[in-house]
Order: sequence, then C-alpha cells, then structure tokens
Amino acid sequence: MNWIIDHGDLTDWIMRHSDLMGWIINLSGLAAAFLLIYGLKQMSSPVTARRGVVLAGWGMLVVVLASFLYAFGVEADAKAHLTINLSLAVAALVLGLGWAWWTGRTVAITAMPQMVALYNGMGGGAAAAIAAVELFGGRGGDSVALVVTLLGALIGSVSLSGSIVAWAKLDGRIQKPWRYRGQKFVNAIVFLGLIGVGAGVVAATGGAILGAIFFVGALALGVMITGPIGGADMPVVISLYNALTGLAVALDGYTLQNPALMIAGMVVGSAGTLLTLLMAKAMNRSVSNVLFSNFGDVAVEQQGSIKGRLKPVEATDAAVAMRYAGSVIIVPGYGLAAAQAQQKLYEFVKLLQAAGVDVKFAIHPVAGRMPGHMDVLLAEAGVPYDLIYELDDINDDFKSADVSLVIGANDVVNPAARTDKTSPVYGMPILNVDQTRQVYVIKRGAGRGYAGVENELFYKDNCNMVYGDAKTVLERMIEAVRGLGDSGDESSHSSPAGMKEAVA
Ligand code: NAP
Repeated sequence: MNWIIDHGDLTDWIMRHSDLMGWIINLSGLAAAFLLIYGLKQMSSPVTARRGVVLAGWGMLVVVLASFLYAFGVEADAKAHLTINLSLAVAALVLGLGWAWWTGRTVAITAMPQMVALYNGMGGGAAAAIAAVELFGGRGGDSVALVVTLLGALIGSVSLSGSIVAWAKLDGRIQKPWRYRGQKFVNAIVFLGLIGVGAGVVAATGGAILGAIFFVGALALGVMITGPIGGADMPVVISLYNALTGLAVALDGYTLQNPALMIAGMVVGSAGTLLTLLMAKAMNRSVSNVLFSNFGDVAVEQQGSIKGRLKPVEATDAAVAMRYAGSVIIVPGYGLAAAQAQQKLYEFVKLLQAAGVDVKFAIHPVAGRMPGHMDVLLAEAGVPYDLIYELDDINDDFKSADVSLVIGANDVVNPAARTDKTSPVYGMPILNVDQTRQVYVIKRGAGRGYAGVENELFYKDNCNMVYGDAKTVLERMIEAVRGLGDSGDESSHSSPAGMKEAVA
C-alpha cells in the first residue's frame, strides 16, 4: 500500500492536488445522488424496475469508490494507520460483496423479507458504528453535533437490534411474541432513561462510560419494542426500521459533513416512510396500530356467522371451465409464493391464451408478505408486465369477467372488509373477486390468512374451492387443458353461457 501514499509520482501529484480530490469527491456525491434518486424513480414501474436497481447499484459503487479518495486528505497523524485502515476497508468490502452476491443469488423468494430485515439491520448497525467512532474517538464536537450523533446512535442501534429480532421472527426462530404486563410502561421508562443518559453524554461532552450505557440501552430498546409485535406484522416493522436507518445515516452524514451520506440517508428515510405508510394504508391500519396492537396473533372466531357452504371441485373441472371462458382474472397471494408455483401458473396462462382466453393478473398492494412480492414472483416466471394490473386499475373489471382464479390469496379478497365492522380486515381495500360470475380458489385446506379470520368469499354461491398445494393443482390444470387438445378455435370459448355449461 505504501506506494499509494508515500511514494510514486501519481501519489505526489494527488497529494499536491487535494483540492482536486475534494472536487472529485463532491462531484461523485452529486452523481451518486442523481443515480440513486433516478434509480428509485425507475423502480416505481415493473417495466423499468430492473434498470432502476442497476442504476442505484452504480450510484452505490460511485460513493464507495469515492470514499477511498478521502485517504489522500487525511491528517498527518492519521497517515501511520492508513495502510491498515485501507486494508480493513478493502477486506470488509470483499466480505460484504461476496456475502451479498451469494445470498442474493441463493435466497428463496419466500425468504426475501428475512434477507431485507438482515440487510436493513446492517444499515442501522453501520450508522450506529459511525456514531460510535465519532463519540468514542473524542471528536464529538459541539453540543449540537453531539445531540445529532447521539440521535444517529439511538436510531441506528434500535434498527439494528429490532431488525435482528424481526429476522428471527420471520425465519421462525422466534415463534412467540414476548409480552408481559406493563411492557409499554417499561419501554417508555427505558426510552426516557436513554434521553437522560444522552443528556449526560452531552453535558460531559462525550463520556465513554455513559456513551457505552447509551449504546447498550439503545440496543436493548430495539429488542424490547420489536419483541411484543406479532410475527405477521414484521414486514411493516422492517419497512419502518428501514426508514429509521435512512434517518440515522442522514444524521451521521451531518456529523461527518458528508453530503453523499446525507442525501442517501434522506432518500432511504423518505422512501421507507412512504412505503411504511402505504403498507399501513393498504391494510387499513395506522403505524401505531401495527407497533402497539398485537394484531395478527388474535384469531377472531366468526365462522359461525358466515352463511353458505364450502363447495370443493376437482382441478380438472375448474381448468376446463377456464379453458372455455372468455376472460379470466388471476389473483395471486402468499400461497403462490409458498408453493413456488409461479412457473406452472404462467404455463397454465399461456395455454389459456393459446385457446383465446383473455387473461389478466390482479395484484393487491399487500398481497404476499412484502411490497412487490407478487410482482417479483410473476416477473421471475416471465409474465409480461402488460398482463399485470393494480387494484385500482382492475377492480371494476371483476364484474364483467367470466372467472376469477384466486391462488393462495385470502385476506386480500375477503368481502368482510367492505361490510363487517367487527372484522380485523374491515376497511382494507380488497379485490372485488366476489363480483365475478364464477370464482375458483386454490388453497390447501381450511388455513386462514395473515389476519387469522375466516373468509366469507369461500362460502358464496359463485365460489368453488380447489383444494391442494398450488403447484400440484396447477400441474393438474395444465394436464387437463392439454388433454382437451390445441383447439385455438375462437368459437369454442368466450361465451359466458358456454363457460357456464363447462362449469356445470
Ligand atoms: P393470506 O391472507 O396470508 O392467505 C394466504 C393463503 O394461502 C392462506 O389462506 C393459505 O391457506 C394459502 N396457502 C398457503 N400455502 C399454500 C400453498 N402451498 N398452496 C396453496 N395455498 C396456500 O395472503 P394474501 O391474500 O396474499 O394476503 C396477504 C396478507 O399479508 C394481508 O393480510 C396483508 O395485510 C398481510 N401483509 C402483507 C404485507 C405486504 O407488504 N405484502 C405486509 C404485511 C402484512 P391454506 O393454509 O388453507 O393453504
């Protein structure tokens, strides 16, 4: 490494041109900010999302590479440690890149929320680590800078430990919420205690012992806040921690006077906040309800009040009815991801299309277990984007469609959301599947959805259940349609009457 710093024409030239280095760093920050913001914008549509991810990735690369240029401007007494510090930074980069590359390639689509939780926790941890270096390195600065650093430390630490608990819950390593009487009161006391310790750190301008107590307390608070929240609410919690991590990074950016960190942190913070609010809105809940209400663990017994009966049919019969339908709307849900049946689904759809059936996909904003879960799943199977519709764009089409096929979805098609004020899903916007002439629901049995409530759709006259694992059922449906031969004859479908005969 010595040649970089101590010897060589290039190094000398660079050292003599530290202004130029500063200029390059600032320009890189600006370019990275543009790439991150533009990338994020591109992610708002499935058509451009992939490009958006790549652009944002380039933005990150620019920032990471530019941060090495700071090495050329270090103070004289820090130069002795430069070689070891640069080596550590490179080692961390190699390890991080290798791990991210491997996990990104091998992660199952159903395990995505866990991975996001871990990555998010690391972001919070990094923000807390920067704050720790500032506090314990004795460079706390004035009281304003100390308060900002402490805020970054608090938020980053809470995000780190909270995200780890969220990961453990999503991964099934923690099965039950941790609850006890007076828990919220204890949490509030710990929070107030942390503010007191923080005030002590500011008064003592960075006391090491107080600083250590502050970090331990903040990490404990993350565990204490996340512990009692039901496992099913973890995606919203992760999104909230993601927003908080962004805020912590932005605060660190202020402490370090690093515009790139500030911009990246603010982008993550605002995007995470919007996502959290959108998810909460799509579930008709407030963020405080998610954090403090223990939702998702309470199974509401209301089956007795539902009229009608469940009417199972064979996969073959449902497939034949769809083959002779004019239009079919498919509603995917969490069960499709759990069964990894997306490829089979698209195979089935292509057979229907070849027979002249108009097929569309309807995606509820919180179908599955994380935002965009279904879009990613369908994109993975190669489903063209123009077949995929969002709730607002397709909800009026259900009443004119011949068949709705619900695959492993439950809460997002529960009509009780419109009518039953006692239901936990009341007020949640749902896909109007029940308005379709004929509905088929693929699920394995009597399992409830995330909200833990029975679904009255399944008991309606126009609804039939096709029981089985989504992949197995779709395989049977594919066989059934293939068995009918490749007619492609337009007159053999598209008539609701014909379809009804097939259903009968
Ligand atoms: P859901 O309500 O959880 O229902 C999933 C259904 O899939 C279950 O009823 C289950 O019934 C069935 N299933 C499971 N494995 C299956 C398999 N292998 N084959 C066939 N069926 C299978 O799912 P959803 O309708 O997608 O709704 C998502 C829920 O998650 C909403 O309540 C939403 O608020 C919540 N949530 C979503 C997000 C998000 O960002 N997307 C975030 C937080 C919370 P069986 O056991 O009988 O098969």
